[in-house]
Amino acid sequence: MSFKTFSFHPQIQAGINAVGYENPTAIQEQTIPAIMEGSDILGLAQTGTGKTAAFVLPMLERLMSGQRGKLRALIISPTRELAEQTNKAIRELARKTGLRSMSIYGGISQQLQVRGLRGGTEIVVACPGRLMDLMDQKIVSLQNIEVLVLDEADQMFDMGFLPTIKKIVRQIPENRQTLLFSATMPEEIRSLANEFLKNPITVDIEASKPLKTISHAIYPIEQLQKTKMLLALLDKKDDGQVLIFTRTKHRAKKLADQLDKAGNSVTSLQGDLSQIQRDRAMDRFRSGHARIMVATDIAARGIDVSKISKVINYDMPNTADAYTHRIGRTGRMEHTGMALSLVTSEDLPMIRTIERLLGKSLERKELVGFEQYSNELDHASPSPIKKSNNGNRYRKYPANRQQKSFSPAR
Ligand code: AMP
Repeated sequence: MSFKTFSFHPQIQAGINAVGYENPTAIQEQTIPAIMEGSDILGLAQTGTGKTAAFVLPMLERLMSGQRGKLRALIISPTRELAEQTNKAIRELARKTGLRSMSIYGGISQQLQVRGLRGGTEIVVACPGRLMDLMDQKIVSLQNIEVLVLDEADQMFDMGFLPTIKKIVRQIPENRQTLLFSATMPEEIRSLANEFLKNPITVDIEASKPLKTISHAIYPIEQLQKTKMLLALLDKKDDGQVLIFTRTKHRAKKLADQLDKAGNSVTSLQGDLSQIQRDRAMDRFRSGHARIMVATDIAARGIDVSKISKVINYDMPNTADAYTHRIGRTGRMEHTGMALSLVTSEDLPMIRTIERLLGKSLERKELVGFEQYSNELDHASPSPIKKSNNGNRYRKYPANRQQKSFSPAR
């Protein structure tokens, strides 16, 4: 299938050609026609599937007709990084359309954002806190919004944004189109969808299953041996980029220092950084000047670096969904990736949960010189979890991203 099938406005097609997309991804194929028909969408899709363009392109198509100079489309994102990334994607795809897009988030002065809003932008990508703040100051009005996108809704819930989001959405006209995307569907997101979406079409791109281009392996290890093992795993000949997750900001910082001292080009992203420091860290990683990024879960939301070849869980995440989110940063699009986890005996219950979610065992690996603490891990018995839907109109598409086999990690 080609993008031509959608018959986008020539100025939008020109943007697609300019970024070099040839064929739509699965989520784009399934959601674009439904959005163009005006349906609300409940999209179960993780980052890396092409979901941004899936909502941006039909949104631009809608904005091509109608008034300019008014705020008509709003995308709410959990983090500044994701907001920036989405805004960048919109600007690239809309470059020939004359439509304007800007981002709004806290941590920086509001002056430029106020100026942009007064200049008459048609599209805003916003984080909830600053947006609410500007609404309270009557600097931004949502009365002309036609399209609302709630992106990475599960993450916004995890970060405690749901009450703010509800307040914001209640100020948007009801005859809008609402698109909600989430990698997972906890009960709170279902009820948010029930409250704000009208007769939505559910598109499920095997959301909870990590992309099939990723191989998983776990390395049983004692807590105190982790750094030593990590250094052994960081094969310096491998030129792909590596994203390492830790449980806390403090551990991220400490580990980045240790890796740096061991001669690695490394940067870190954690909540204590100022906006300028965060941007600098992202730029160093994105440009490849730093091969390794050490991050916490929240700081890493929305990181889109296509060359990430390995995600290493230095600390295991607290939920299986967080595992999916983390490893969704590698193996994006056509690239293959590896997810390696350093696992202590305390992580065993989480490993079993993840294996149930995947419906497979994770391959156990050993490194020469490191002693495995237990073979208890070999007895985890995965049984697939069944997922239910909420009775909305429901389309289930082929499991083209389903994990079928695990190839051994190098
Ligand atoms: P997303 O899931 O929206 O974060 O997209 C992941 C990556 O895929 C981004 O780098 C996009 O630029 C890229 N992408 C999105 N759609 C396509 C497409 N149809 N063809 C090629 N690359 C795409």
